[in-house]
Amino acid sequence: MHEVTLLINIVMALVVAFIGGVIARRLGLPTIVGYLFAGIVIGPFTPGFVGDTPIIQQLAELGVIFLMFGVGLHFSFQDLWNVRDIAIPGALIQTALATLLGLGLSQLWGWTLMSGLVMGLSISVASTVVLLRGLMDNSLLNTSHGQAAVGWLVMEDILSVLILILMPTLVRDAGAFNWGNLAVTLLKSAAFMVIMFFGGTRLLPWLLEKIAHTRSRELFILAVLAITLGTAMSASELFGVSLALGAFVAGAIISQSHLSHQVGADLFSFREIFSVLFFVSVGMLVNPLFLWENFGQVISLSLLVVVGKITIVILMGFFFPRPARTFLVIAIGLSQVGEFSFILGQGGVTLGLLDSNQYSLILAASLISISVNPFMYKILPALESQLRRIPGFWKKLDANTHILEIKKEALVGHVVIIGYGRVGKHMVDVLEKLAVPMLAIEADAERIASLNGRNIPTLYGDASNSEVINHAYLDRASVLVVTIPDETSAELIVTAARDLNPDLPIVARAATEDGLLMLLNQGANRTIHPELEGGLEMVHHTLLILGYPLQEVHRYAEAVRKDRYNFNITTDEEHRSLHELLVAFQDIEIIWLTLREDCSLVGKSLSESDIRARSGASVVAILRAGQLIANPKSSTVFESGDRIGLIGDREQIAAAEQFILPAAAEAAGDTQ
Ligand code: AMP
Repeated sequence: MHEVTLLINIVMALVVAFIGGVIARRLGLPTIVGYLFAGIVIGPFTPGFVGDTPIIQQLAELGVIFLMFGVGLHFSFQDLWNVRDIAIPGALIQTALATLLGLGLSQLWGWTLMSGLVMGLSISVASTVVLLRGLMDNSLLNTSHGQAAVGWLVMEDILSVLILILMPTLVRDAGAFNWGNLAVTLLKSAAFMVIMFFGGTRLLPWLLEKIAHTRSRELFILAVLAITLGTAMSASELFGVSLALGAFVAGAIISQSHLSHQVGADLFSFREIFSVLFFVSVGMLVNPLFLWENFGQVISLSLLVVVGKITIVILMGFFFPRPARTFLVIAIGLSQVGEFSFILGQGGVTLGLLDSNQYSLILAASLISISVNPFMYKILPALESQLRRIPGFWKKLDANTHILEIKKEALVGHVVIIGYGRVGKHMVDVLEKLAVPMLAIEADAERIASLNGRNIPTLYGDASNSEVINHAYLDRASVLVVTIPDETSAELIVTAARDLNPDLPIVARAATEDGLLMLLNQGANRTIHPELEGGLEMVHHTLLILGYPLQEVHRYAEAVRKDRYNFNITTDEEHRSLHELLVAFQDIEIIWLTLREDCSLVGKSLSESDIRARSGASVVAILRAGQLIANPKSSTVFESGDRIGLIGDREQIAAAEQFILPAAAEAAGDTQ
């Protein structure tokens, strides 16, 4: 029985977590809450099956590793570097302030200074797993806000390693602290970074490439696992760096390889499974009875973690040059505590600085703050609108958003483009080639950097914020192009722009067909629905391949456009056009044939070749060197490489093919 402990633990943890997750979903709660309760159910403080806490915790470590590796995969060193201005001071100041708050609260409870300090430090560091899950579940991970939050968290991770090293100094009389040890640890961490930067960046992508060439999928997955776990483990065992940080660095190195997407896909299931075990392991540590008996303390500590940390981060927004929304996302994301708090708290217990009840209090605050965290993301929009209502508050919070010095005089008759994504990019490319003056407004820092790299004037920030749009010199602009997909923001922008310049032509992107009318009502002059355009283009090409006449296909697309975009006219033109298209196709075919050098027609004129008399089909066009010769004259001489467009019924076309063949045999598949 003893040998299967691991198996029983894995199975029980996953099965109970599955049941907990399903129940949570049914109740409309986040699945995380279900996993945490599953942990309590199989934990040592409730009757029934008792899981082996150390085993589940070790498995949970795998969750941390896979998650951090995944983050590294999508997070290049450049990105980390880009958020250094906010992540480094932000994490340091926030950790210090949250520690002070924790210390203050502990003094109210009559704890010793040392216990209070350890508790403060423990609640100052947020959980990686919870933050990443929250960002992923709310599609924030790859936004500029999410990246700043991850950079901040990486800093907190480094800080918590340092705190762990420094903690023995708190035990003054033990004399355990040794500067030599600290220096060795720091040196080892530096050595890890240097080795990974110089050796890892060459070795790991090379290794993956080699394995990929073996075409063995299982070997590839195994290689990915070996790299992830191996790097994290050696980081921790050989260099004293945390497993999470080691995995993060390995991920960031693999992200340089073009195979990184495959690596991410292969690790997906591992990441999901083991992060569930992480939440189960947290639940297992919590004693519900203790939670109940010390309700007051538990609630005040949890409030401190959730409300206190959110307040600290939001207030810090006043001092950093980033959009206010970034600080809201970081505040919500970091308003919880998890694995680092357990490690720090455990360290405190080992050093005799915390007793087991004090440690349980930290665990309870962790359980509660993790459980409410998913709900905090839900209240993010409400929180934002409340903060906007406080007079002057939001303006001040957002005031530090970069409003780059733009050369005012260059901005006359310029085109203002909002959004430099899949749609806006085309606009910027064309206007740049045509040397039309423009100003791009973008909320993504990385895209702003790339525009700046092209010397295109930019405004960094949320264009739906009046502070940003007011700086676009719309009164002197020639056109405003709103390319962002979010219709609510687009509506705000169009309304504000109309107020600023009643005569400004506005072209706006709509995300839905309803949005087309809504934006027109707000004052846009022209609205475009990219999906409608994409769909029509696909119809166009498909019908041409099927042999429908170009003119009819074109007319059909125009009829659809007219019906969808022009709200004043309600015609059934679309249907009429479709009808014509169907009639047109009933017995007429068009085919394109390419004339090869050895074709008998080459060198002959249209009249000499006598195509109509011999087959019944007529040549209606010749495509020569990219030029279309429509209705060619009878004197036109065929040249090698010409593509000739023949029209006729099926039999006539077949006869013409016979007659022009065998030289054009290969071109039969050339039908357009
Ligand atoms: P796409 O959907 O690929 O055309 O991308 C839209 C682009 O617009 C992205 O680069 C976003 O960062 C940007 N964007 C979205 N909303 C706003 C906004 N309110 N202000 C400025 N830029 C925005």
